Amino acid sequence: MTTIQVRNPRSGEIDYQIPCFSENEIKLRATSVRDAQKKWASLSIENRCDILREWHTAISDNRDIIANALCIDTGRQAFSGFEVDVALKLIDHWIHRAPALFKKDSGISNQVPSVNYQHTLIPYPIVAAISPWNVPLILGLIDAIPALAAGCAVMLKPSEVTPRFAAPLEKTINLVDELSDVFSLIMGDGLTGRAMIDAADAVCFTGSVATGRLVAVHAAERFIPAFLELGGKDPAIVTRQADIHKAADAIIRSAVGMTGQACQSLERIYVDIDIIDEFTDTLLERLAHVKLNWPNIECGHIGPIIHAPQAKIIQTQLSEAISDGATVIYGDGVVEHEGGLWCTPTVLTNISHKMRVMKEETFGPVIPIVAYHTIEEAIALANDTEFGLSAAVFCEDQKEALWIAEKLVVGAISINDASLTSVVNDVEKNSFCYSGLGGSRMGDAGFTRFLRKRASLIQTAKPMSIDIFKESGDH
Ligand code: NAD
Repeated sequence: MTTIQVRNPRSGEIDYQIPCFSENEIKLRATSVRDAQKKWASLSIENRCDILREWHTAISDNRDIIANALCIDTGRQAFSGFEVDVALKLIDHWIHRAPALFKKDSGISNQVPSVNYQHTLIPYPIVAAISPWNVPLILGLIDAIPALAAGCAVMLKPSEVTPRFAAPLEKTINLVDELSDVFSLIMGDGLTGRAMIDAADAVCFTGSVATGRLVAVHAAERFIPAFLELGGKDPAIVTRQADIHKAADAIIRSAVGMTGQACQSLERIYVDIDIIDEFTDTLLERLAHVKLNWPNIECGHIGPIIHAPQAKIIQTQLSEAISDGATVIYGDGVVEHEGGLWCTPTVLTNISHKMRVMKEETFGPVIPIVAYHTIEEAIALANDTEFGLSAAVFCEDQKEALWIAEKLVVGAISINDASLTSVVNDVEKNSFCYSGLGGSRMGDAGFTRFLRKRASLIQTAKPMSIDIFKESGDH
């Protein structure tokens, strides 16, 4: 078996390794979970939820061990504990919500009233969940938990960049017999992910647009659904009617929090020309309180850049923008400390949409600020992108804010806050343009998308005869 070396984001050292599952091993795992899924799907939804409740207890009992592994994976401490707590809340949510959604329905056809129907819900036998490195635990489990509740077996592959949490998570799964039969962690890289799609009946993929495209093509070749959650380049519009302090705080939290390594990070800020000076001064004043969590992981807000190649992307975008005329009014871009790579919050002005920092995902705590003269101009700038994940509008006049929101080509708009989709998981939303594909992972659809409907159609009258096809000239 080949192994993959894993880098520690705080020290830059290779200090961990994982096995890379072979195609054959994935086939064997798939055969095993496919067999076990038949029994799993035959349990009542209440039974499956009871089993997920046992798993909740197992995770709670091992919270700190999982959080510590995540902490090494990501170089951030407080958020690692938070990730485990969110995972527990997701299990809670689906235990309570899934039974109400898993209802057989029946009725009478409107078109042919002599026909009654009954629907049966059929889960996809195997869901492959393939996840990225930025929020390693939540982004795997956000799809796995509702899929399991729906009656699917799940093969979950964490990113090879942040795989340390998988071993303690797997221990919690193994503490619950029925669950371990249908929930398998698969370790490996892109080729492993590809082989999983060959073995699955549906795929949930969270990651980059480039890989998402490969996954979509591969899933299409196999005629299986692909639910894709991809990158973003989220804009914020700060209008003349904004509460500037509220806007500055929310924008900093969204753009800089998680080191900007979140799909829904704000990466483009458009501000009304009349308030841009006051807004920028407020933002810089607030940013002065934001610190790296180095050298002490227990202090500060900003963890290291988890994946070293991302540091190069961030610095290249910054350097290119500067050589094309952008001005850095705050921050130092990417900095190295004892082998780890960090990025200070970096604010840019004199920006153009020709620059890559305004076109491509940065995935770092970079805040480009652009002035606009009319709201129509701001909307056009916000929509000038191939992404369509989410956006923010700051405007205390709610009617005006909603008017602006309706003009933005994105799947979710936070009004007078930012990145609300990272905390509000129970409201449905889709990802537009190159930011994603398929049914909503949020809200009830996050569960129902794993169920196909089989209709049994019962004729209660005499069946129609061949004569309905009879040509008019026949007697
Ligand atoms: P990535 O696309 O490089 O990798 C994601 C996963 O796909 C990894 O597990 C990887 O091993 C696997 N993979 C690679 N090639 C594959 C292939 N051919 N077939 C199947 N699987 C394959 O993404 P990343 O760098 O890990 O994550 C960062 C990206 O994820 C950013 O673009 C970010 O915006 C996006 N993201 C999106 C959301 C969302 O909800 N929309 C959330 C978090 C992250």
